[in-house]
Amino acid sequence: MTLASVIIIGAGQGGLQAAISLRQEGFSGAITLIGAEPGLPYQRPPLSKAYLLEGKAEALTLRPESFFRTKDITYLTETRVEGIDRAAGQVIAYGPQGTMRLGYDALVLATGARNLRPPIEGLEHALDLRTLADAARLRAALATKRRIAVIGGGFIGLEFAAMARKLGHGVSVIEAAPRLMARAVSPAISAHFARLHQDWGTELILGHAATRIAPDAVTLANGGTVPADLVLLAAGVRPNSDLAEAAGLVVENGVRVDATLRSSDPAIFALGDCACFLDPRTGAHIRLESVQAATDQARLIAANLVRGTSTAYGALPWFWSDQADIKLQIAGLGGNDCTDILLQDGVVARLRGPDVVAVETLNKPGIHIRARKLLAGNDPVALDQISAIAAPQAAGAA
Ligand SMILES: Cc1cc2nc3c(=O)[nH]c(=O)nc-3n(C[C@H](O)[C@H](O)[C@H](O)COP(=O)(O)OP(=O)(O)OC[C@H]3O[C@@H](n4cnc5c(N)ncnc54)[C@H](O)[C@@H]3O)c2cc1C
Repeated sequence: MTLASVIIIGAGQGGLQAAISLRQEGFSGAITLIGAEPGLPYQRPPLSKAYLLEGKAEALTLRPESFFRTKDITYLTETRVEGIDRAAGQVIAYGPQGTMRLGYDALVLATGARNLRPPIEGLEHALDLRTLADAARLRAALATKRRIAVIGGGFIGLEFAAMARKLGHGVSVIEAAPRLMARAVSPAISAHFARLHQDWGTELILGHAATRIAPDAVTLANGGTVPADLVLLAAGVRPNSDLAEAAGLVVENGVRVDATLRSSDPAIFALGDCACFLDPRTGAHIRLESVQAATDQARLIAANLVRGTSTAYGALPWFWSDQADIKLQIAGLGGNDCTDILLQDGVVARLRGPDVVAVETLNKPGIHIRARKLLAGNDPVALDQISAIAAPQAAGAA
C-alpha cells in the first residue's frame, strides 16, 4: 500500500495519539484528524474526578492549537463522519464546512464508546458523564444541594459518587450486580470499596436494577424507591462501531481487528474503546476501555503503518480509578474465573491456574509498577514473585 494520506476518525485519547505517533514515526504525508466534539482534544479521566471539583476545562486539553499547525495535521473539529466509501477509499464527513468527501490510503477508527442506555423508563431525566459537555452540565447541577442517585456502581459511577459526597450532596448508588465494579475487580476489592463508600456516607443499593426514573425518585425492580432530584446514568458503554458496520466491516462487540489491529478491510484499523482485538495473551477477542489501551494501540498502528511491519499488539493492560483519596491500580487483566489471594491490606493477586495474571493495589504505586513490569514480561509469573515485591520491606523501598 502506498501511504500518502491517513484519516483518523475520532479525536479523543487514541485518535490524537495516532496523529502524534504518525509524525513521531516520520510519516510526512497528509494526516486528517476528524472529531465530532467541539474544541481541542482533551483527557476524559478527570471528568469524573478533579474537573467536577475545580471546573478547569483548559487543564484537560491534550495539545494546544499550535501543535496541529506545527505538525501539519489537519484537525476538523465539530465534524462527524457519516459514512465510509471503502471502494473509493473516502470518508463522507459533515461539519461547519458542509459535507465533504476526503480520500485516505489508511483509515483509523478511533470513535470510542457511548453510554449504554438500559431499558429504564424515564431515562430522559438522567444525565450522562462521557464528554466535557456532559461534565460541565453535571458540574452546573452540583452547584445546588442535591439528592443524587447514581445508576451503575462501576468506576465512573463510583468516582462521581465520591466527588459528590465530598461536595456535600446526598448520594445513593444503585447497582444491579451483587457487588461494586464486578466486571473489573476481585470480590475483596469490591468489598473494600463498598465499606469505604459507606463510610463516606453513600447509600449502596446492590443487587437491584433501576426500572424507572421520575423527576423526584428512581424506582427499583423490587418496587422500592430511591428519592433523587439528580440522576447520573453510569451503567457502562457501547462501542461506537455503527460506521464500521454500515461500511460492511466485521463488527462484534466493537470493530473486530486482528492482533495487529487491522480490521476485515486491510486499509482500515481500529483502536481503543471501539476496537475488539485478538489478544495474544489469551487468544480471545477482547475490548478494553482505558487510556493506556487506546494510546498504546495508536502507537502500534502508527509504527506498523510507517515501518511497513505487522507487529502484534501485546501490551499489558493496566487501569486506575481515583475514588476520594484512594487510588486503585490494576496491572494485568483478571476475571471472575480467577482465584484471588489477598497478599496484604490493599494488595490482591489474581491467578488463573498457577499464574498470576493481575495485581490490584490500593494507594501502593510502587508495588503496582513492579507488578506491571513482571507481568509485562514473556514468562509466567508465580505467586511468590508477587509476594516478594509486595513484602513490607520491598514496598518500603518503592
Ligand atoms: C468520565 C470518564 C472517566 C474515565 N476515567 C478513566 C480512568 O481513570 N482511567 C482510564 O484509563 N480510562 C478512563 N476512562 C476511559 C477512557 O477515557 C477511554 O477508555 C478513552 O478515552 C478511550 O479512548 P478512545 O480514543 O478510544 O475514545 P474517546 O477518547 O472516547 O474518543 C472518541 C471520540 O470519537 C468521536 N467520534 C465518535 N464517532 C465519530 C464520528 N462518526 N465522527 C467524528 N468523531 C467521532 C467522539 O465524539 C469522541 O470524541 C474514563 C472515561 C470517562 C468518560
